[in-house]
Amino acid sequence: MQVDLFMENMYILDDGRVRQFLIVGEEEALLMDTGFEDSGVCQEVKKITDLPVKVLMTHGDPDHAGGLKDFGTCFLHEKDWHLIKDDIRLQPLKEGDIFECGGFRLEAVEIPGHTYGSVALIERKKKLLFSGDSVQKGGPIFMFGGHRNIDLYIESQKKLLDLANDVRFVFPSHHECPIDASYIEKNLRDAVALKNGELAGEKHPYMPCPLYRGQWTEFLYAANS
Ligand SMILES: [Zn+2]
Repeated sequence: MQVDLFMENMYILDDGRVRQFLIVGEEEALLMDTGFEDSGVCQEVKKITDLPVKVLMTHGDPDHAGGLKDFGTCFLHEKDWHLIKDDIRLQPLKEGDIFECGGFRLEAVEIPGHTYGSVALIERKKKLLFSGDSVQKGGPIFMFGGHRNIDLYIESQKKLLDLANDVRFVFPSHHECPIDASYIEKNLRDAVALKNGELAGEKHPYMPCPLYRGQWTEFLYAANS
């Protein structure tokens, strides 16, 4: 696990597959996502701080929620609660919820699409956006399976685009990080091309759906999902 102090009180944890973001305050810490079951996120967090940790979830996919069993409770949008199989105490996370810690003020922005309960966290003063899987450079962004919706994804990218002036750094959970806010519009344009059938799908060696290459972003997508 690689751990970097990105700026005062803010750490990036990255096991090479998925990353988490930790903000350490004076009385508690905020952790965004918990990695895979075997990422060892809780252990790493304990090396950084012994304060109580409040867990905020960008969404409920297993590469983000796998470590929840070590924390026991989290804030997660209700539309992703069905994705959590472990016995976790779930607390609702919704549009406009504010979490303050260590000089950061995180505000929840609902961005359904990648999952129905996807949430971004924005820090307007510091101009930071924690985007989960919904904004990425390159991708692939997973858009196949029963809990994805490309139409909602496009609407959510438009919503984020309206916030782009308040964003200097985007922190995706996968691939390059941080990236600049231009990827919101790049992902949007590629998603619209995907939806309009303008991208050619190619067979993926092991994933259950084709890979679509946009100009800036790839999607693993099945039209009926
Ligand atoms: Zn992910």
